[in-house]
Amino acid sequence: MPETTIVWLRRDLRLADNPALHAAAQRGCVIPVYIDEPRTRWSLGAASRYWLHQSLSAFGAALAARGNRLLIRRGVPRAVLTELVAETGATAVYWNRRYEPDGIACDTALKESLAAACTVRSFNGHLLFEPPRIATAAGTPFRVFTPFSRACLAQDPPPQPLPEPARMAPPPMALSGATLEDLELEPDIDWAAEIRNTWQFGEAAAIARLDDYIEQALAGYALSRDYPAQAGVSCLSPYLAHGEISVRTAWHAVQAAIVAAGVAVEDAARAWLRQLLWREFAYHLLYHFPHSVDAPLREAFAGMAWVEDPHDLRAWTRGMTGFPLVDAGMRELWHTGYMHNRVRMVAASLLCKQLGMNWLAGARWFWDTLVDADLANNTLGWQWVAGCGADAAPYFRIFNPLTQSRKFDADGAYIRNWVAELAALDGDAVHRPPASVMDYPRPLVDLAVAREAALARYAAIKR
Ligand code: FAD
Repeated sequence: MPETTIVWLRRDLRLADNPALHAAAQRGCVIPVYIDEPRTRWSLGAASRYWLHQSLSAFGAALAARGNRLLIRRGVPRAVLTELVAETGATAVYWNRRYEPDGIACDTALKESLAAACTVRSFNGHLLFEPPRIATAAGTPFRVFTPFSRACLAQDPPPQPLPEPARMAPPPMALSGATLEDLELEPDIDWAAEIRNTWQFGEAAAIARLDDYIEQALAGYALSRDYPAQAGVSCLSPYLAHGEISVRTAWHAVQAAIVAAGVAVEDAARAWLRQLLWREFAYHLLYHFPHSVDAPLREAFAGMAWVEDPHDLRAWTRGMTGFPLVDAGMRELWHTGYMHNRVRMVAASLLCKQLGMNWLAGARWFWDTLVDADLANNTLGWQWVAGCGADAAPYFRIFNPLTQSRKFDADGAYIRNWVAELAALDGDAVHRPPASVMDYPRPLVDLAVAREAALARYAAIKR
C-alpha cells in the first residue's frame, strides 16, 4: 500500500529543486495543497497577489500535465491540514520552511498539533545557508554583511539542486477544493496590464530568464548593474520571491557558468553571487531579529522624530516629487511592479532622509506594489537606507537624487522612458527640468536645506 503525503506549498511553486515535493514523491501518492490563509499584517500586497494568481495557475497546469493536481483549500492551516489528513488517511505532511515571524509561529505550532496524527517534516527549499547554521565565533548572529558572507563561503557549498520528481502519483480519492478564482487574487479593476506585458510567469519562465541572463548579460554585471537604462541585472527577484525557481538552482547555474567561461565571466559572476548572499543576510536578520519588520533594528532609532506629511508621501508614491530619477523609478514600480536597485536606494533615501518620513511608510508602499515583495529583502533594504538597520548606510550618507541621476542615467534614457512629461528634454534639463515644463512638478524640497535638516535629525539620535 503506497503511503500518501500531503505537501503544503507556500512560496515554492515549482517542481524542480523542491525538497518537500521530491521527498513526498518518493513515498508514494502526493497531495499538493495550497492554503489561502487568513490575512495578517504582512500578507502579500496587491501586485504580489496578482503574481501569485499567475504562479498558482502555472504550477497547477504543470502538475496537471504530470497527472496530479493542485488542491486549493481556504482557512487556518491547522484546521485545513488536520481535516485533510483525516479525509485522505495521509501518513505524512511535508513543507519547505519559511522564515517570516508569523510563518515560523504558525509552522511550529502546527508541527506539534499534527504530530499525533502523522509524520511531519520540513525542508530547506528557500535558502543557501539557513540562519541557525551561520553564527559568529561567539555564537551570536551576524550584524555585518562582509563577515557574514565569509562565514557562508567557509561552509560546505549548498547541495546541488534536486531534479523534478520523476512521478507524483495522485491520491486514489477525489478531493474537493476552492478554485483559483475563489481566492480573488486578481483585482476587480484591471490595473495589471503592464505587469502582464512585462513579465512571463511560472517556473518555466523563471528558468528561461536565468538561462538567458547567464548567456546574454551576466558577463557585464559588474559594470552595468548600477545603470537602470541598461539590461544589466537579472530581474530574477520576483521568481525567487515566489519560489518559482530556487536560489540553489541560480547559484549552481552561475557557478557552472564560471567553470565554462572562466575569467571572461568570473568577476561579474562573483559580484552576482554576492547579491544572493545579501538575500541570505536579509533572511539571517529576519530570523534572528523578527521585530525588525515593524521596528528599527537599532533601538536608538525608535525615538526618531519622523515627519508626517500625507501630501509629500502621496507625491512620492505617484512619482510626482519633481526629482526625475526618483519619479521614473516610482512610475516604473507602479506600472511594472519592479524598480531597479539603484533607483530603489535613491527613491527610499529621498523619502527617509530629505523628506524625513518613517521608512515603514515606504516599506508598506513597496510591499503593496512590488511583484518581488520579500519581507526579508524589503526590511533590509529600507533599514539600510534609513540607517537604522544592521550594517546600514551611515546616517550622513544622503543620496543626492540629482547627482545620482547625472551619474547613473547620464543620457536620461531611463527618465525619458518613464516620465512622459520629460520625454522631449535632453542634456542636463532632463535631470533638472526647467520650470517651463508644463505638468511636471517643481521639486518637493530644496536639497541643501533638506540635507541639513536630515543631518540634524540624525545627529539628535546619535547623541
Ligand atoms: P540582481 O542584481 O540580478 O540580483 C540577483 C538577486 O540577488 C536578486 O533577484 C535578489 O534576490 C538578490 N539581491 C540583489 N540585490 C539585493 C539586495 N540589495 N538585498 C537583498 N537581496 C538582493 N529585493 C527583493 O527581492 N524584494 C524586495 O521587497 C526588495 N525591497 C527592497 C527595498 C529597498 C528600499 C531596496 C534598496 C532594495 C530592495 N530589494 C528587494 C533588493 C534589490 O533591490 C532587489 O533584490 C533587486 O533590485 C532585484 O532585481 P534583480 O533580480 O534584477 O537583481
